[in-house]
Amino acid sequence: MSAYPYEPEFQQAHDEIISSLRDSTLFQNKPEYEKVLPIVAVPERIIQFRVAWENDQGKQEVATGYRVQYNSAKGPYKGGLRFHPTVNLSILKFLGFEQIFKNALTGLDMGGAKGGLCVDLKGRSNNEIRRICYSFMRELSRHIGQDTDVPAGDIGVGGREVGYLFGAYRSFRNSWEGVLTGKGLNWGGSLIRPEATGYGVIYFAQAMIDFATKGKESFEGKRVAISGSGNVAQYAALKVIELGGKVVSLSDSKGCIISETGITSEQVAAIADAKIHFKSLEQIVGEFSAFAENKVQYIAGARPWTHAGKVDIALPCATQNEVSGDEAKALVAAGVKFVAEGSNMGCTPEAIHTFEANRLTASSNDTVWYVGGKASNLGGVLVSGLEMAQNSQRMTWTREAVDQELKRGMINCFNDCISAAQTYSNETNKQTLPSLVKGANLASFIKVADA
Ligand code: GLU
Repeated sequence: MSAYPYEPEFQQAHDEIISSLRDSTLFQNKPEYEKVLPIVAVPERIIQFRVAWENDQGKQEVATGYRVQYNSAKGPYKGGLRFHPTVNLSILKFLGFEQIFKNALTGLDMGGAKGGLCVDLKGRSNNEIRRICYSFMRELSRHIGQDTDVPAGDIGVGGREVGYLFGAYRSFRNSWEGVLTGKGLNWGGSLIRPEATGYGVIYFAQAMIDFATKGKESFEGKRVAISGSGNVAQYAALKVIELGGKVVSLSDSKGCIISETGITSEQVAAIADAKIHFKSLEQIVGEFSAFAENKVQYIAGARPWTHAGKVDIALPCATQNEVSGDEAKALVAAGVKFVAEGSNMGCTPEAIHTFEANRLTASSNDTVWYVGGKASNLGGVLVSGLEMAQNSQRMTWTREAVDQELKRGMINCFNDCISAAQTYSNETNKQTLPSLVKGANLASFIKVADA
């Protein structure tokens, strides 16, 4: 990759996939697949544009917007928009590249893309956020369409922002079409879309627990450490609580909260309400008396992994590279058995190495089983695909129907990963659990390469 610009996040995502494909028997058995590697590594198109708006203080502001239309072999470009001060081309290329493979694993026909804006929305009014979204869509609307490219939300882009973006698209293009997903329920959105990523992580983790324990265990009674407190973390936490597990942590970029007895669904709801107004966990815990009842403790400047006590299941649901090698070792020491990412590339290469090495060497009772986000967090984009289908049909499916499709999709993805890992494994010890890292990369790469 020496001829390429310095793009560390993209390079990390690229190397993760390529090294796991090379560390299997795929290219030996089917050399034609290797030819696809350099083609799929280059985005089909990158659009970079100026986004200018007047802020509430009457000052002109400007930021850089992007859309990386990575690969359309399997269908229209599909993937979220991230509005965050860390956004740059390396991060969007990593996310777009991952999205190609994630979308392939949904079993639906969607290509991969990602976009975003380097901006901090914190502290800005609804009106100003609307002006930012209109300015962003003024340019983006020329490059997207229901059969071309269908963006959605990601970090910093939730229901409110999708609403402003959709309104802008309609007015610039004079066309109502399913051009964005994550829309509101009374203007073309799908039931279960807000819940989908978080619920999907839990459905995937349930399949892992079921397979590893031969149906003997479930979430019931498990201690679950979750990071993040946004949309993905909130719905993952609510599903864990519904299934009888104990959510021992949540976090934001400033610190984490720990509860020995388990964070309650009322507390998750209070966090969800307050986060719309950009409140930090420290403020939320201080303001609501409900957090004192079960001794929720706030730890400034810390991630949960080394503070959550005994952990059975870890779900990184915040952002990329949020579990270091040392934190992975601490989680193994704390007894973790299952790690499933709700975030994209939540674990560093060192953390993945720690989990995978443990899988290969530990006795079956102590095995840690890890899965990356491109498989375990695909529930969001899967239900986005269902939202596109509902928009094309001019129909709305029931909550039960969408939830059932989501569950089915997550279980199909799990089975695809297992079967690809078993078919192309070069691991000699057949007693260990199959690698879900390799399984996800192999199963998705084969689908994209075939297309
Ligand atoms: N941003 C989400 C993801 O990382 C959802 C994308 C979508 O629904 O298009 O998969």
